[in-house]
This record gives sequence, structure tokens and C-alpha cells, in this order.
Amino acid sequence: NAPDRYAVIGHPVAHSKSPQIHAAFAGQTGQNLAYERLLAPLDGFVTVMRGFVAQGGKGLSVTVPFKLEAHGLADMLTARARAAGAVNALHIVDGRIVGDNTDGAGLVRDIEHGAGVALEGKKVLMLGAGGAARGAVLPLLQAGTASLTIANRTAAKAAGLAAGFAAHGNILARDFHALQGGFDVVINATSASMDDQLPPVRPDVFASGALAYDMMYGREPTVFMRFAAEHGADTRDGLGMLVEQAAEAFLLWRAVRPDTAPVYAALRAGDQCTSRQ
Ligand code: NDP
Repeated sequence: NAPDRYAVIGHPVAHSKSPQIHAAFAGQTGQNLAYERLLAPLDGFVTVMRGFVAQGGKGLSVTVPFKLEAHGLADMLTARARAAGAVNALHIVDGRIVGDNTDGAGLVRDIEHGAGVALEGKKVLMLGAGGAARGAVLPLLQAGTASLTIANRTAAKAAGLAAGFAAHGNILARDFHALQGGFDVVINATSASMDDQLPPVRPDVFASGALAYDMMYGREPTVFMRFAAEHGADTRDGLGMLVEQAAEAFLLWRAVRPDTAPVYAALRAGDQCTSRQ
């Protein structure tokens, strides 16, 4: 039998680890599938995506910068994709395009299973209010966090996010300078780490034994992780989130949940080889 076809679509896409991750999941679970890279021109997402579907493609991972466009063209959205306002996984079901967002669920799973921190009853601070932060809000509230505080450089975006999700749990927006007391989990969902910058947080945001989580990966440890470690926090980068969001997409497509631990370990080992070169 010909394998079912899947792909990651983005611009750029050559750096994506998704083909490696999904090939490992398929091997491990015995699923007969092929997973490729699709580079779409910046103005060509819809054409490339529809072409792949017309050739029998069963699903796509969507990466930068097409997550909003994918949200706009899906025939149906899952509740978490609607809440996120962005789509990172497309599933073709009976010719219809279902849009999902697995980033937030991947984050929650990596915090709980990867870092071993149960979110229920925890005070959580999230820095940033961009696409990744927005996708994380509903899964974090649904994990039973005692409170979720959002701080963002552009304060109005944090306020908008908090207002939009007020019905779903205890969510607050605060200015960076007005953050008070320690948080059990501090998530850096800003893109500041990409420029080796630190969001303007004081060291006392980290409660004793706090987990400091940076969504950024591939540049470990980030400035944020180093700052958090200097002030007593445990740290983790976003590589586990990447693997877990892929596992959620694999589950959506194949109805089988892969074991993420060996795939995470292999990617982590690969990262270390690269950084030694
Ligand atoms: P966006 O561009 O949508 O949002 C960027 C956010 O960062 C905004 O809140 C912005 O604030 C803030 N920001 C940018 N620079 C600074 C700075 N110097 N100081 C303080 N705040 C700053 O990006 P995304 O939400 O898509 O991505 C955010 C991060 O998450 C990236 O590092 C990305 O790599 C990572 N990510 C990781 C994933 C994973 O699987 N591990 C998945 C998705 C994303 P403002 O609103 O004021 O502009």
C-alpha cells in the first residue's frame, strides 16, 4: 500500500525538525506514512496547500508565517484552534479541512510530563501576548492553574487576552513593573530570546522551586533561562513543546499517541552534537 502523505508547510521550512519527528513517530507506532517538507512562497500558501490536498495529502503541519492564514481557510476549527486564533495542524477529513492548534496542549504536556510539574493549583506567569502565548492560554487554564497572569511589552495586548478568556478561568493582565510575588511557573512566550534579550522581569517573580520555561529552542540556555537559574529556578527550553505539539498532531491524524520520550532524547542528543561542532 502507498503510504498516506503528510507535510510541514512554511517559509522557510528547510530547518524544520518536523519530518524527523514524524518519521520517528511513524516508525515507533508502525504507521504507514510519508512526511515531507513543502516550501510555499510567501503569497502562495493556499495554492501549495490545496495542491497537496488535491494529490491526496491527508494532513499538514503549519509553521511560520502561515498559522493565521491556515486558521482563515479551514472548513472547520477545533475549540482550541478557535481560541488560539491560529492553526498549526490541518487534517483532511472526507475532503474537508479541519484546523487544529496543538501548540498549547504541547506546552502543557511538556511542563507536566517532561518537566514533571503538575499545573493544577499553580500560580503561572506568562510573558508575551503574541501567537504562541495566545495558543497557550486555554490549555493552561484548562489544566487547572490557580491563576494565570499575562505580562506583555505592549500592555494592551495582555489586557485584551485576559479579557477574552475571563470566562474560562482566573486570568489577569499586569504590567511588567507591577508584577508582585513569586510564581510557581514562569513561561517566556516572547520572542526576546531570539535576539538574546531578557523580558523586563524582576528576580522575585520566581517562587522558591519555580519552573522557568522558555518556548524558544535550539539556543539553550537562553538569556531568560540563565537569569532564572541564577535566581534559583529550574529551567527548560521549548524543545519538548515542539515534540509534544507534533505528537498531538500525530494523534489527530492517526488516532495513535506516540511515545515522545525517545524522540525528545534523540533530538536533544543531536542538538548537543551540533553545538559541539
Ligand atoms: P509573536 O511575534 O507572535 O509574538 C512575540 C511576542 O514577544 C510579543 O508578545 C512581543 O511583545 C514579545 N517581544 C518581542 N521582543 C521582545 C522583547 N525584546 N522584550 C519583551 N517582549 C518582546 O511570536 P510567537 O508568539 O509566534 O513566538 C514567540 C516565541 O515562542 C518564539 O521564540 C518562538 O520561537 C517560540 N515558539 C516555540 C514553539 C515550540 O514548539 N517550542 C511553538 C511556537 C512558538 P509586543 O506585543 O509588545 O510586540
